[in-house]
Amino acid sequence: AGPGLKVISTLSVGFDHLALDEIKKRGIRVGYTPDVLTDATAELSVALLLAACRRLPEAAEQVRSGGWTTWKPLWMCGHGLSDSTVGIIGLGRIGQAVARRLKPFGVSKFLYTGSAPKPEAAAEFGAEFVPLARLAEESDFVLVTCALTPATQGMCNKDFFGRMKKTSVFVNTSRGAVVNQEDLYEALASGQIAAAGLDVTTPEPLPTDHPLLSLKNCVILPHIGSATYATRTTMAVLAATNLLAGLRGEPMPHELQL
Ligand code: NDP
Repeated sequence: AGPGLKVISTLSVGFDHLALDEIKKRGIRVGYTPDVLTDATAELSVALLLAACRRLPEAAEQVRSGGWTTWKPLWMCGHGLSDSTVGIIGLGRIGQAVARRLKPFGVSKFLYTGSAPKPEAAAEFGAEFVPLARLAEESDFVLVTCALTPATQGMCNKDFFGRMKKTSVFVNTSRGAVVNQEDLYEALASGQIAAAGLDVTTPEPLPTDHPLLSLKNCVILPHIGSATYATRTTMAVLAATNLLAGLRGEPMPHELQL
């Protein structure tokens, strides 16, 4: 946009796509859309977790392809949430909204990790703050809902997946780069973990010949966390309001503090 650029308004809560150092240096203001997409993204996270752990796309495909024949006790079995331990990486707005939705499924324990404990938020779920390694080792379900930062980039790697149980399910609705995808592929292909659900990948769109797409135990969605009509409309109005306020030199409804 050149030197005339005064305001950036992003239709997202994530801002990892913005060159913040340069933006700050140039005195550019940034508006973003937190809160209004929390419920939709948390809902999608739960949907993706259930799709991965109960093997929904694979099962639906069996119906289409004629793989559904006589009743077999262990056919299409997956892993359920009752009495499970759920680990949440990043107990922020979306992480908390996910925990709130998962609790009624009968989860027996919540673990979480982040840069510091959040006792007030954690109290609602009796969630325990643990190091990342312990979260990997003890969780039956891992959900990644943190922001992408230099600290979280590549955080879910070979060591992380190696610590997870063979029966555990991994779900990422944050940003693709939090995950080392080669390491995730190995973990899924070798049976180191049971399944994964990804709403975000590197790159986006994911090439249709990507190895992850060859795996039955990996459910991949095209970054649709906030994609409900109501949420996208609210985001659009907020982004426009942010932009106009920024151009007028007024306080924005949601301005990123740089
Ligand atoms: P919040 O800022 O409320 O939460 C971000 C969380 O990330 C915080 O709890 C923070 O914990 C945590 N975090 C930061 N550093 C680390 C770390 N090193 N280890 C573990 N956790 C860490 O943001 P939202 O909940 O609103 O959104 C979270 C992210 O979700 C967004 O940044 C975006 O990338 C993604 N998103 C994806 C969507 C999709 O369509 N799939 C839609 C919307 C958002 P702490 O406070 O302890 O640092």
